[in-house]
Amino acid sequence: MTGVSLRLLAPGMPRRLVLATLAGAAADLAGIALIAAASWMITRAAEQPPLAALSVAIVAVRAFATTRGLFRYGERLSGHDVALRAQAGTRERLYQALIPAGPLPLRGADLLSRMVDDTDAVQDLLVRCLLPALAALLAGTAAVVLAAFVLPVAALLLAAGLLAAGVALPAVTAAAARRRSARIAPARAELAARVADLVHGAADLAAYGARDRALAAGMEADARLVRLERSRSRVDAAALGLGVLVQGLTVVAVVLAARSADLDGVATAVLALTSLVSFEPVLPLGAAGERFAGVLAALRRLREIGGTPAAVTEPGAPLTLPDRPLAVEIEDLVVRHGDREPALNGVSLSVAPGDRVAIVGPSGAGKSTLLAALMRTVDIESGNIFINGVDIRRYASDDVRTRITGLTQDPYVFQASLRDNLRLAGPDASDEDLARAVRQACLDGWTDRTGWDTTLGEDGRTVSGGQLQRLALARALLYDPQVLVLDEPAEAVDEETADALLADLLDATRGRTTLLVTHRLRGLEQVDEIIVLEDGRVVQRGPHHALVSVPGYYRDLWESEALTRR
Ligand code: ADP
Repeated sequence: MTGVSLRLLAPGMPRRLVLATLAGAAADLAGIALIAAASWMITRAAEQPPLAALSVAIVAVRAFATTRGLFRYGERLSGHDVALRAQAGTRERLYQALIPAGPLPLRGADLLSRMVDDTDAVQDLLVRCLLPALAALLAGTAAVVLAAFVLPVAALLLAAGLLAAGVALPAVTAAAARRRSARIAPARAELAARVADLVHGAADLAAYGARDRALAAGMEADARLVRLERSRSRVDAAALGLGVLVQGLTVVAVVLAARSADLDGVATAVLALTSLVSFEPVLPLGAAGERFAGVLAALRRLREIGGTPAAVTEPGAPLTLPDRPLAVEIEDLVVRHGDREPALNGVSLSVAPGDRVAIVGPSGAGKSTLLAALMRTVDIESGNIFINGVDIRRYASDDVRTRITGLTQDPYVFQASLRDNLRLAGPDASDEDLARAVRQACLDGWTDRTGWDTTLGEDGRTVSGGQLQRLALARALLYDPQVLVLDEPAEAVDEETADALLADLLDATRGRTTLLVTHRLRGLEQVDEIIVLEDGRVVQRGPHHALVSVPGYYRDLWESEALTRR
């Protein structure tokens, strides 16, 4: 998926945006009309006419004062409705772009800052830039037309003033802010990343005496952001000040024009005050120009995420995977990550329903890549994977991952009860189902001790490495996919636990179609076939007893494992 569109407005939303703009313009116009009517009424009242001569103006002042509030309310309501919907839609589209994408070249905090701060920019674009600009355009035009009826030359002066404050000034602030805006978002992301490092890495930083250095780097990132924000505030303030100056000069010019045209006092007052108030919707546009530059920078950053190519190509019309047991046939598989050497180079393998196949090999041999290709999280360069005789590329990757899945690397423990952590894999599972999965993963001793409702800590910090792997295994067994994938289930646990875990796991997977990546060999005599991968190629294959009887990687590993057991 290249260049995910950041289409901001979903169907139906342009209509609401037009409504919001009209309501905003109507509120501005009501404000201008209110001042025009009120100034006429006050100056005319000074001439002491009969009360009846003022009655229309009195009603008009009341009407404009009331409707102004109502229109403003309508504008805020519909404007924010559109903006929040557009923001939510943008976030949703970004999530959809992120899910199939491979790992992003971004730090977590940077990604978070893009998803949160930069999508706020969508709201700013609509509520603070587009809507006020359109409303100001309508209200400003109406004020100029109104002035033209009284004195055309005053209308020209007013138009010039409004253009200076509403077009030229925002253009200047936008240009002044362009370079700085491009730096603000990365500076904010940098600060977020530094803070995340300080919080999550606090223990390591303290242990290696690196806390002060990390703190200083965080403070420096903070100071940089503060500097940029300060200079942004200065531009905002200057824009507002210059806008007010233009407003004042325009009113003076209008009054001078009215005097030289010999207008009467009432008309002069109406013209002057109407000109003054018609700047109200225009003045915030100076700062909006500044904001607009920031919005453009944020949208660019969002487009970078949206444009991340998907890790796998999805079929146009995906087939549905059958519900029966699945047979897997891999032929001459070649998979490459980016433009590196192939991570898998001509691997063939078949797994019949109920078969258990173990994959072993040194680090970097391509074991995880093989599982990734099977779970359709990476694309195949050449060769084939057939599921019950059908090319895997004809199935949607999501569908494949609901049927071929299990214990992948880095299982995650949610901050929830043990029961809920398991229920993730089986929302409808009965207590007996949960108990069986826990028993099969040999976690029952732990559940008996800690109880099912104990909340497990954030990041699973109250869970040991072995317990975490067993919990993930229990989850995978409970889910019971058609092909169970287990990637290094005994990783990150001590040797004794690893052997015990592997033994339990081999017991629990009997009769299930299973692919097991492991660096421990004890118990592998139970599996149907062992594949030894090296540099992306199959260098040995066969059952355990055959592999230990010939020289090679497998026998070497077996012997070194036997040595450590003695
Ligand atoms: P194993 O699981 O056997 O340790 P992997 O399948 O993880 O091996 O990796 C095989 C090769 O592919 C290695 O050289 C590794 O550096 C590379 N590799 C794995 N994943 C990626 C990735 N996402 N991007 C780039 N290279 C990768």
